[in-house]
Amino acid sequence: MKTFVLASKNEHKAKEIQEILGAGFRVITQTEAGAGDIDIIEDGDTFEANAVKKAEIIMRALNRPVIADDSGLCVDYLGGSPGVYTARYAGENATDQENIDKLLGALDGVPFSERTARFVCVIALALPEGKTKTFRGECNGFINLCPNGDGGFGYDPIFYVESFGMTMGRLEPHIKNSISHRHAALSKLVEYLRKEEMQR
Ligand code: IMP
Repeated sequence: MKTFVLASKNEHKAKEIQEILGAGFRVITQTEAGAGDIDIIEDGDTFEANAVKKAEIIMRALNRPVIADDSGLCVDYLGGSPGVYTARYAGENATDQENIDKLLGALDGVPFSERTARFVCVIALALPEGKTKTFRGECNGFINLCPNGDGGFGYDPIFYVESFGMTMGRLEPHIKNSISHRHAALSKLVEYLRKEEMQR
């Protein structure tokens, strides 16, 4: 079985990625791999730059295969913001509620049809040998006029998914995981790994 270190200390994130990747792969956090003392500043201009930076720093520290993810929300009316600033949109230690309030404020008066947005996730795969690869997944939707539902995390209560007619905050977790930006990016990673395996 192939084991990947996830360049993150977040066990919840590792578990979610493990569930999407399935039984053929094992995902452990950087802490479990012995790199829990490394903190990485996410200062890139793009999701790709941040994911590559995280994956390569941990890969070099451990000399083993590492995956890293970077994700966020891009709103068309705001020219793609908050983008790489999604987690700290309302300030460095902003809560989910503060971020949601700031975004709803920025879109005040904007009609629903103009509130198109996408969640983006970029997964980087860094190997001790070879060039780092990135895989991008996106999930399209609209920023709802007000929060609805309390499932999920982050911006889920205001992210409306047209095909299900509800916000991500109201979707069953397994449904969300099957349509999410993370799922789309990880599916591309799995497809790549399978092709690589077949060429050996
Ligand atoms: P991270 O880089 O994965 O930690 O995510 C950056 C920010 O994007 C998080 O703090 C969340 O607010 C937001 N985000 C990423 N993925 C999701 C999601 O699936 N639902 C809601 N918010 C998300």
